Amino acid sequence: MNYSEMTKEQLLNEKSALEKQYEDYKAMNLKLDMSRGKPSTEQLNISSRILDILTSTSDCSTEKGFDCRNYGLMDGITEIKPIFAQMMQVDPDMIMVGGNSSLNMMFDTISLFMTKSPVEGEKPWLEVKNRKFLCPAPGYDRHFGITEYFGFEMITIPMTSEGPDMDMVEKLVAEDDSIKGIWCVPKYSNPQGITYSDETVKRFANLNPKAKDFRIFWDDAYCVHDVTETPDKLISLMDECKKTGKTDLPIIFCSTSKITFPGSGVAAMAADENNMKVIKEKYKYQTISFDKVNMLRHILFFKDIDGVKAHMDKHKSILKPKFDIVLKHLKESVGPTGVATWFEPNGGYFVAVDVMEGTAKKVVELCKEAGVVLTGAGATYPYGNDPKDSNIRIAPSYPTLDELEKAMEIFCVATKLAAVNKILENM
Ligand code: PMP
Repeated sequence: MNYSEMTKEQLLNEKSALEKQYEDYKAMNLKLDMSRGKPSTEQLNISSRILDILTSTSDCSTEKGFDCRNYGLMDGITEIKPIFAQMMQVDPDMIMVGGNSSLNMMFDTISLFMTKSPVEGEKPWLEVKNRKFLCPAPGYDRHFGITEYFGFEMITIPMTSEGPDMDMVEKLVAEDDSIKGIWCVPKYSNPQGITYSDETVKRFANLNPKAKDFRIFWDDAYCVHDVTETPDKLISLMDECKKTGKTDLPIIFCSTSKITFPGSGVAAMAADENNMKVIKEKYKYQTISFDKVNMLRHILFFKDIDGVKAHMDKHKSILKPKFDIVLKHLKESVGPTGVATWFEPNGGYFVAVDVMEGTAKKVVELCKEAGVVLTGAGATYPYGNDPKDSNIRIAPSYPTLDELEKAMEIFCVATKLAAVNKILENM
């Protein structure tokens, strides 16, 4: 029954029933973790062949005869670029392949613009004392961490089911030239699993920022990460920008972290010629070249984009049952009470739940005391501050199916218990 329709007496009964269930779970001394979006061991195992795909007798040359064991090719080996180009929906010549982490490339890019604006004649961002960054939220905590580290004032942009609130984005960037960028996870956003609509992408390609050096940080981390048979489609931002003549706006990132091995995959970025010139000019000082042996391993493993897609189907078959468990518990246990809402994503790594306002911290605390670790409440907002204290990110990939069943039972009981207590408090 919906809690808002319950009498005080019914709520008190519900409270004691929930408390009893909660105490029973606590007595089990469980240790379950739904906090970070890490692939499970089973997922890592499907990429294991990559570890012995090269041996001491392998030919480590590229098709053009370049020996990958040696220095050189600062922007990566040519053969891997078409794969990333198709993942990021750009031309292969816009790609720079990097090291093992796209987040690292995002950090490096902001760090670069702090000392050199991407536009000739504009002030480096370090000299813009009131520099600001737009942060669609709920969003990825590590993005917010980067802009906080570099001293940006972060402006929260609410997320809608079509992506960031574009009315607000358009208005803010047109008015204020100290706004230098925006974080976007356009496909299966972290944490809600929302894919930006065609209209949202087109509006991004048509932005008129007052700052000439405003950049869209388009983190396509989940571009091939479908988990259902009805995948979302994201249109190409770069293609749209070609139509509007604003190819200087986006800088696009992705990696194979959640395709092969997080921390030991390959990352890449894409940008138009002008941005890339500035970016490469800095990398030239930063490194002689990245890990081309790992790039070669990835090419030999996947061959082409179809290889990537076939591999992602294997991830899907492992992940789908986990997402199903999360959604089943939410629907059956929390749904009828009306105390929480959530999106049903077609891909990505998370389910974001909006519990009753003012109870997210409490839910996380209750779960922790019962042995279930969740991402800290508030982490999905700039400065770790969720103004409604409502959003919780569930990461279902790492636990086993049995662990997930238990963890979700506890999550649902905690969500309802915190809500009942809140309603009773306010009565
Ligand atoms: N972007 C997003 C949106 C992510 O969720 C993650 C990983 N959780 C990353 C980037 C990190 O990617 P990488 O391992 O390539 O640094």
